[in-house]
Amino acid sequence: MKEHTIFKRETLVKQLEENSNWDVIVIGGGATGLGVALDSITRGYKTLLLEQVDFAKGTSSRSTKLVHGGVRYLAQGNIDLVKEALYERGLLLKNASHLVSNQSFIIPNYNWWDNLKYTIGLKIYDALAGKLSFGKSTRISKKETLKRLSTIKNGKLKGGVVYHDGQFDDSRLAVNIAQTCIEHGATALNHFKVKQLLKNDRGAVNGVVAEDAETRKTYALNAKVIINATGVFTDEILKMDNAEAKDIVRPSQGIHLVIDKSFLPGNDAIMIPKTNDGRVLFLVPWHNKIVVGTTDTLLDSHSLEPKALDAEVDFIIATANNYLTKTLAKEDVLSIFAGLRPLAAPKDKSEKTKEISRSHKIIVSDSDLITITGGKWTTYRRMAQDTINKAIFIGKLPKLACETKAIKIHGAIIPIEIKSHQNVYGSDEKLIQNLIKEQPELGVQLHKSLPFTKAEVVWAIRNEMARTIEDVLARRVRTLFLDAKATLEIIPIVAKILSEELNKDTIWEQQQIEEFKSIANQYVL
Ligand SMILES: Cc1cc2nc3c(=O)[nH]c(=O)nc-3n(C[C@H](O)[C@H](O)[C@H](O)COP(=O)(O)OP(=O)(O)OC[C@H]3O[C@@H](n4cnc5c(N)ncnc54)[C@H](O)[C@@H]3O)c2cc1C
Repeated sequence: MKEHTIFKRETLVKQLEENSNWDVIVIGGGATGLGVALDSITRGYKTLLLEQVDFAKGTSSRSTKLVHGGVRYLAQGNIDLVKEALYERGLLLKNASHLVSNQSFIIPNYNWWDNLKYTIGLKIYDALAGKLSFGKSTRISKKETLKRLSTIKNGKLKGGVVYHDGQFDDSRLAVNIAQTCIEHGATALNHFKVKQLLKNDRGAVNGVVAEDAETRKTYALNAKVIINATGVFTDEILKMDNAEAKDIVRPSQGIHLVIDKSFLPGNDAIMIPKTNDGRVLFLVPWHNKIVVGTTDTLLDSHSLEPKALDAEVDFIIATANNYLTKTLAKEDVLSIFAGLRPLAAPKDKSEKTKEISRSHKIIVSDSDLITITGGKWTTYRRMAQDTINKAIFIGKLPKLACETKAIKIHGAIIPIEIKSHQNVYGSDEKLIQNLIKEQPELGVQLHKSLPFTKAEVVWAIRNEMARTIEDVLARRVRTLFLDAKATLEIIPIVAKILSEELNKDTIWEQQQIEEFKSIANQYVL
């Protein structure tokens, strides 16, 4: 099968060893870096992406799973930002149709003024989406709201407003974008950390030193352009460039709780536009569970596995209980995950007002290192386009046109009616089914309370560059985010499959089990 060779680690490492001069090296394999690599390779530049752990290990697997314009930004009057995100939302639905779906949201209203305000506001939201609209927003009666949201508190409810946005699987999209990059000729490697930047005698950055986390072998790699797309790790790379550099990023944490579908049984999501702390709270159906979030807590430090604070958990549970008839308790939480937003990037000399008004920031250092930070998953394509345009603008790359508006992401097919949890694989679904036909024992479920099969684990290792238990269970098959306790029970099954597929010994297998257990325990409340 074609995929077997192009996505193999040995093939990708060989490409890295055989090519010493790249046009573009991207540091970081989250939404931002992957988007930049896809933009770069499809314009025709020789592109390498290096991710220290796994694709979407950082913030990009920990989002609210919404492809949205941002109703919140509309309330703040940030029309341009909303319009841009709504346009990108439309493109994502077209180009990653297997992973992005149209989700209806209901805003429950408790006074007539809110009802009117949100009805008008969402009409503007609809209008800004133009031809790429996901469906018209409508005002619904109290009776209709109670019918559609069967677990919403009746109390002083006056009615609701229905609107539409996108919903997606964030880390699966990241993996599929990495595959798309490779299919177009890029080299994208996970478990490969950039340790140092290389510079020429004029002080311009012209390469990186990177280490293969599996073999501990280091490589010096040269490129015309180096792009820092490392999210909350941005300052670490900037300090490799200039030890005196001031911090430009401050992490702000957002947490989510995953709970059983019985807390919100229908097809609609709930959007609470103003919680007690003035934030938005979402309750969104996802893989037959409900994701509830998020918070916004400024932190002084960042890590690969941020931890939810007790106050954040209490706030989400209390807020959900203000609206739901079924009482939510800590014991009901199936999984808890925290993500970090990189906040507040300051301006640099080359920044224009047009850029300042947008949510992402592109910074060109004196060494010509290009840093892209901020933004959101929804706008990853546009952020990438602006980043590569910047590299062209400063004379680092010959001018070639951006192609990504029309690039289909690996797996994209015309949407079909949702029948199986495997629909997220798009065109790969039938290949996974073939695996099960060839080896029926792979059709066995990993856990009685989760639909995922052994075949999906094998698929993730053979074709989706999964190298560890965590790569499989956190970001390919999303059990860690859906039910952390059940995930702890299936660790030995996955460890066995992994060591057989990768030809590893029992010592390696045991080490894997211990490493993953310590991470997975943090997702149990
Ligand atoms: C709580 C929360 C909810 C959100 N919800 C939504 C949402 O619903 N919809 C939406 O559109 N957006 C949402 N966002 C925003 C979105 O998730 C982020 O904008 C996006 O994921 C950021 O991606 P990134 O690639 O910049 O960062 P990251 O995903 O953090 O990626 C950076 C990567 O760089 C790697 N890296 C760091 N240092 C090195 C090194 N030295 N060498 C190699 N690799 C390195 C890291 O391992 C990491 O994988 C949310 C954000 C948060 C925090």
